[in-house]
Formats: sequence, structure tokens, C-alpha cells
Amino acid sequence: MSDDDCIFCKIIDGQIPGQVVDQDERTVSFMDINPATRGHALVIPRRHARDLLEIEPSELEAVAVAAQRLAGRIHERLEPAGINLLNSCGRAGWQTVFHFHIHVIPRYEGDPLRLPWTPGEGDPEEIAKVAEQLR
Ligand code: 5GP
Ligand code: ZN
Repeated sequence: MSDDDCIFCKIIDGQIPGQVVDQDERTVSFMDINPATRGHALVIPRRHARDLLEIEPSELEAVAVAAQRLAGRIHERLEPAGINLLNSCGRAGWQTVFHFHIHVIPRYEGDPLRLPWTPGEGDPEEIAKVAEQLR
């Protein structure tokens, strides 16, 4: 299942070029065209799914396993100081390409990335209230 207008489906089909670095039956991994750091890559399911809420659990599992495999290779070959996995879901959650993907971002000492929130003291009552909504 692919989406005719989807740029990542086109990379899978070979309709547009991509620097593919890993693939298996269910997933493809390729370099991000605008890397946040050296080695920034994306892992996607072959089967089109819009986002975290839409992807089938078994497909998500395959993508997570592929992301771990790629993170291991990045760790070995690029020797970063750390690695972030990132998924964005929905426009407000920074998603810009609507084919589910996990960013694998090698981290280096002194790289330009910063935590996107300011850690601050939480209100225990509010936390408990939300927890209640989630149980
Ligand atoms: P999002 O913002 O949805 O979490 O991530 C989309 C990512 O896809 C961005 O980091 C962006 O640089 C990358 N991207 C967008 N278009 C292309 C493309 O045509 N080729 C590749 N390789 N990456 C792309
Ligand atoms: Zn797609």
C-alpha cells in the first residue's frame, strides 16, 4: 500500500533518489536530506501509514527494530557521543512528512541540538489529574 503523493513512498519505489542505508522486508532506512547532525537518518515502513496513530503495531515493531539496528551501526561507524530517536506526530508535533518515520540522530559533543523544552518543576496535583485521565 503506497500513497501516490507521498515523497517517502516515492523514495521506496525509486521514483525519487534517496541514500538508502538499510532495508528489510518491512522497512527502509535512508539519509535525511537536511541532516540535523552528521549521519541523521530516517527509518520508515514500506507500507504507507500516516503517523504514530495510524501505523499497525506490527509495522511499528519492525520500524523500531530497524531503528535500533541502524543506531547500532551509527554507534559503531560514526562513533557519536550519543543518539536520539525522534518521532513527530501531527503538524503541532512538528511532523512535516506524513509517512510515519523515526529519526535516528547521532549526537556529538558541542552539536547544535538543544532540548526542545525547559525542564521545570511540575504541579503534583495536575500530574495526578492527568494520570487519572490516562488510567
Ligand atoms: P518530520 O519533520 O516529518 O519529522 O521529518 C521529515 C524529515 O524528512 C525532515 O527531517 C526532512 O529533512 C526530511 N525530508 C523531507 N523531504 C525529503 C526528501 O525528499 N528526501 C529525504 N531524504 N529527506 C527528506
Ligand atoms: Zn508514503
